[in-house]
Amino acid sequence: MKRDIQSLIAKMTLEEKAGMCSGLDFWRLKGVERLGIPSIMVTDGPHGLRKQQEKTDHLGISQSVPATCFPSAAGMASSWDRELIHDVGVALGEECQAEDVAVLLGPGANIKRSPLCGRNFEYFSEDPFLSSEMATGHIQGVQSQGVGTSLKHFAANNQEHRRSGIDTIVDQRTLREIYLASFEGPVKNAQPWTVMSAYNKVNGTFASENEFLLTDILKEEWGHEGFVVTDWGANNDRVDGLLAGQELEMPSSGGANDRKIIEAVQNGMLSEELLNRAVERILRIIFMSVDNKKPNATYDKDEHHRLARTVAGETMVLLKNEDDLLPLAKGMKLAIVGPFAQKPRYQGGGSSHINPTQLDVPIEKIKKLAGDSASIVYAQGFHLESDDLDTVLIEEAKEAAGKADAVVIFAGLPDRYESEGYDRKHLHMPANQSQLIEEIASVQSNVIVVLMNGSAIEMPWINQAKSILEAYLGGQAAGGAIADLLFGEVNPSGKLTETFPMKLSDTPSFLFFPGEGNRVEYREGIFVGYRYHDTKQVKPLFPFGHGLSYTTFEYSNLVMDNKGIKDTDTVNVHLTVQNRGSRTGKEVVQLYVRDVQSTVMRPFKELKGFTKIELQPGEKKTVTFKLDHRSFAYYNVDIKDWYVESGNFEIMIGRSCEDILLSDTIHVQSTVALKLKVDRNTMMIDLMSDPKKAPIAQGLIMQIQKGMGLMLEGSEAAENLGEGTGEILTEMLNYMPLRMLAMMSQGMFTEEMLDGLIQQLNNN
Ligand code: BGC
Repeated sequence: MKRDIQSLIAKMTLEEKAGMCSGLDFWRLKGVERLGIPSIMVTDGPHGLRKQQEKTDHLGISQSVPATCFPSAAGMASSWDRELIHDVGVALGEECQAEDVAVLLGPGANIKRSPLCGRNFEYFSEDPFLSSEMATGHIQGVQSQGVGTSLKHFAANNQEHRRSGIDTIVDQRTLREIYLASFEGPVKNAQPWTVMSAYNKVNGTFASENEFLLTDILKEEWGHEGFVVTDWGANNDRVDGLLAGQELEMPSSGGANDRKIIEAVQNGMLSEELLNRAVERILRIIFMSVDNKKPNATYDKDEHHRLARTVAGETMVLLKNEDDLLPLAKGMKLAIVGPFAQKPRYQGGGSSHINPTQLDVPIEKIKKLAGDSASIVYAQGFHLESDDLDTVLIEEAKEAAGKADAVVIFAGLPDRYESEGYDRKHLHMPANQSQLIEEIASVQSNVIVVLMNGSAIEMPWINQAKSILEAYLGGQAAGGAIADLLFGEVNPSGKLTETFPMKLSDTPSFLFFPGEGNRVEYREGIFVGYRYHDTKQVKPLFPFGHGLSYTTFEYSNLVMDNKGIKDTDTVNVHLTVQNRGSRTGKEVVQLYVRDVQSTVMRPFKELKGFTKIELQPGEKKTVTFKLDHRSFAYYNVDIKDWYVESGNFEIMIGRSCEDILLSDTIHVQSTVALKLKVDRNTMMIDLMSDPKKAPIAQGLIMQIQKGMGLMLEGSEAAENLGEGTGEILTEMLNYMPLRMLAMMSQGMFTEEMLDGLIQQLNNN
């Protein structure tokens, strides 16, 4: 329906307009009844609906209405499947419509800077390209149902420790290439109705009042059309927030901040036009929701549960599978160990914690698929509430395992180990679980470990397990999906979206996490996750992109449409993938780009394309990737833009960032001439890199060399000149700043001449 928002705003009083800029209560925005502006509801969260009807909180404590719990983002992203995530978004949107929720508070696109972040389970990846693609699919899915999203937490909110006060100090290139890039794609391509500003400060200013982030980048550069809402309680100074581009404060401020807005308009600190613009953005979303409301909407709970099971099956990652122990045959004698088999850990703690419509119990689902003649014995093995060993439980588990054909141990992190609100201190699993695995391995060689955790862990017991299935926090149907994968009803196709390090001290941010006091410096810069492990050659336990299948895929025939392009061109890269095994399977084909020679620091390789395909046994498919400017560019802080340096780039195709199977080289020519600003301290080598200035620099160097030759002629030094002197001199002169010309020319080159030369070079 077409509405004249401007004339609506013109009818609003100053009080009504100020009121629109903060919540009515914990979950609702204010409306203005006399003008027909309704109050809408927003609510968590990324992988399920947490609609609270009575008591409210942002920590996932009070009860919420039943809703489907899909796998959390860490798992969802491991599917590497844009369409699947879109489908989840559609289902979430349907549930929002049925529950009269206008905006779902998610997805979270923060980068996993350290595996210690307590909230990593709610984030997609350590890689911004992958994270941005997943967030885009999620948003497009939810919004296709006429329900808004809130892309969160903008920006550089990568730890829970001191999250409401921590000042993230991050350089511009890192901010752009890693932390903002994860938000940029979804904002530009999916237009989330709202963006949630984070709790923390970024380079000295709270994200909720950071004009650079909220106005310069989000609104002006990326063209965000919706509104910015604060994270719950993240507002610092209400008027500064509005001035910076933060439209809505949540939850309600009890009227206190509305009064501050009114005062600021009255005393001229805030222009009414700016307030009007903020109100306009909020009203547009309110009416978008009204216009897209589906009256009497319902959804099929069983259908959504089935979808949750399919999704979970695509997200779990088979990390290891020696002797093809998995899939299990029907009719086996199995020992199932660990309390998670009866009471799975399927979601994380905090604001995304929801009340599922139903819950699959893994052991029951295993019994269903194990076959009539199978024998299944359960042993608890350890307590979840404490890390202490219980020798009685261990002995029981060993006995059960010893008598079986194979043992499936359900292990991982208890709730208390990871949650929103605090970070982990280490990457260990509870000692009673690690010890149990070791003990069981002494009586049973067919050990399968199923892990339920939200983020990477160390695995000192890795050699004791033949098979490891990373189930992450797989949602309410995780139990069914685990059974499907164990028995080969579903062929595993999940791949890691984060590096599993051997040990915590191998992680890039180890020395700088979680910072000192209220300040954390991202000193590892752009070298986050595999960008670090790969470049520094620090071998991980499992690399980014890794994940096994019950079939094998062969890659061949890498062809590029063009092997020499301009940075303004796009290029298609094709290859063939064939299923060489006897089972249908899905493969995630990954494309990485490496800048072969660069004048700036760059990671060894970066993910620039991926696709997931399904292949029947023997089937072949051609996969095509389109690369563009951004696939080759880095963020150049001098020109404040993405820039491609001319040269060769290696295109690598692999099944993980370590397992590269095909590669080829392309030459990319830059069409942007970087203008060098010359001053007294500019070095010869920098002049040489500019085609227009290089001849002048060349001339100067020749003059100096000539001068030195004259100087040395006949001297004792000249006789002592050894082989290679010419090269040494050239190297030294290359790195000579212009101001040394006077000295090197024995005073022949005067200060006045230097000023003239600098002027001439700058005009060139
Ligand atoms: C979280 C947000 C959440 C909000 C509302 C905050 O604590 O950081 O992600 O959307 O609460 O529950």
